[in-house]
Amino acid sequence: MSDLLVLSGKKVSSVVYQGLSDRIQTLKEKNIIPGLAVILVGENPASKVYVLSKTRTFKKLDLFTKTYRLSSDISQDELLHLITELNNNPSYHGILVQLPLPKHIESDKVINVIDPKKDVDGFHPENAGLLAIGRPRFIPCTPKGIMKILGHYEIGLNGKHVVVVGRSNIVGRPISILTSMKMDGANATTTLCHSRTPDIENHTRSADVVIVALGVTGFLDHSMIKEGAIVIDVGINRIDADNDKGYELVGDVDWSSIEKKASAATPVPGGVGPMTIAMLVENTVEAAEKL
Ligand code: NAP
Repeated sequence: MSDLLVLSGKKVSSVVYQGLSDRIQTLKEKNIIPGLAVILVGENPASKVYVLSKTRTFKKLDLFTKTYRLSSDISQDELLHLITELNNNPSYHGILVQLPLPKHIESDKVINVIDPKKDVDGFHPENAGLLAIGRPRFIPCTPKGIMKILGHYEIGLNGKHVVVVGRSNIVGRPISILTSMKMDGANATTTLCHSRTPDIENHTRSADVVIVALGVTGFLDHSMIKEGAIVIDVGINRIDADNDKGYELVGDVDWSSIEKKASAATPVPGGVGPMTIAMLVENTVEAAEKL
């Protein structure tokens, strides 16, 4: 197989923003400006970059956003108190707590306290439960973005075998639920692999679509996929590079190895990443519309 179709999340995200502009305008005519509160605890460099690109997009679209930058030694109670205040603040339709949090703070407790109707990341147990029973409210942004990319390129999953590697609540678990859901564009038979799965390559080699979300540079190579497979690379890994930043971002897929065997694949950067941000905007607009 030669002509690899590059599944550009960058392109699909601009289509999403175009589609959202009318909805944002309609809200503005009712004096509603979709608003997102972002909480950033500590100095994790990757988290700072992610928060910056999310808030930049909100500002570019003339939406309201404010970042609450908190010191890494903030107590859990202080953080919970801030979230309660934001839950009651009508300027915010969405609240996002950038993960990971420092070790002394229990992420579960923090997520539990976010108003589920403002949980635009879709991590609250109520929203995770609704997704699991096929009645989603807020779908986590990265898996939702993956489904949009597949939809845009008319890659139906009906009857296909999807193999997901990685079972986090942020990506792997929800994308395994979404792909196997009884709905148009889904209906796949999905296998969920993780670090305790023996012989992962036996699963990935039988897959029509492989979704890798581990955080292991170059994990997936040509020997692990079948001819014509579709590959979705969620990984974002920093590797040292001789450039201004001193690093570059790469995925979990060894692109040069799979490009002659796969039929379509998402690149890193420019694949799933831009869609995660677009879906955050979409979820926030949805939250504002549901007011
Ligand atoms: P995570 O919470 O660390 O989960 C990683 C998952 O991968 C776990 O389920 C782990 O298994 C599994 N795993 C790790 N090493 C493995 C191996 N060698 N073989 C098989 N399974 C393995 O990570 P995450 O939050 O899901 O993120 C995964 C990657 O996606 C990271 O690179 C992250 O930066 C990236 N990401 C990208 C976006 C985006 O917008 N593009 C968004 C979110 C995350 P166990 O459960 O058994 O430990």
